[in-house]
Amino acid sequence: MIRADAIAKSYPTRADDLVVLRDVSFSLERGQSAAIMGPSGCGKSTLLNILGTLDTPTAGRVTIDEIDPFALPESKLARFRNQRVGFIFQDHHLLPQCSALENVLLPSLADPANADASQRARQLLARVGLADRAEHSPAELSGGEKQRVAIARALINKPSLVLADEPTGNLDRATAELVANLLAELHRADDCVLLVVTHSERLAERFDRRFELLDGCLVDR
Ligand code: ADP
Ligand code: MG
Repeated sequence: MIRADAIAKSYPTRADDLVVLRDVSFSLERGQSAAIMGPSGCGKSTLLNILGTLDTPTAGRVTIDEIDPFALPESKLARFRNQRVGFIFQDHHLLPQCSALENVLLPSLADPANADASQRARQLLARVGLADRAEHSPAELSGGEKQRVAIARALINKPSLVLADEPTGNLDRATAELVANLLAELHRADDCVLLVVTHSERLAERFDRRFELLDGCLVDR
């Protein structure tokens, strides 16, 4: 379902290249989840962005649903990403002028075939416990509620891969727990692959596998 083969990433600098990822290889099947841990600056966000096709690797290969996304032309890649990958960030990244429901619907707008999106968006809001908040704007929601809307938005297009970059990093402990539970439940129900970057051992315990990014390589822990 998702494979990384010898992913490397370096950034050119005035002196030597800054090598962030040396050799990242793993694969996860449909329905599996994994936590990625590692100290700040070790390349976790870089790796997630590459897996989500927002950034390109310097070397190596990503395969999602048997497709090499970086072999696609730019126009097709944008569509591929929108349909197959859901993103959840540390900051919710909701549009302030849109309601919760409209925010959940946003990724579906690019796909006119998605006629039942509105119904699914309401179902997803119900599943994250916000059925009665559909018309509220982000400013009217708490941090945890905004993150729950962001989870619903990530799932609207039934993605194969959901990537969450420190999704509970800005939440208090109890709220973080709730959001983590939701992520684990929803991903299982939707049968996608879920990758979560986290600093929390407690959160990491929720997922099927735990990886650590060490010196640019991903190791099981
Ligand atoms: P993490 O998410 O684990 O905290 P990042 O993936 O954000 O780490 O960053 C890994 C390293 O790559 C850091 O040293 C960071 O400064 C560097 N880096 C990230 N993006 C760029 C960029 N566009 N140009 C140069 N260096 C970058
Ligand atoms: Mg990061």
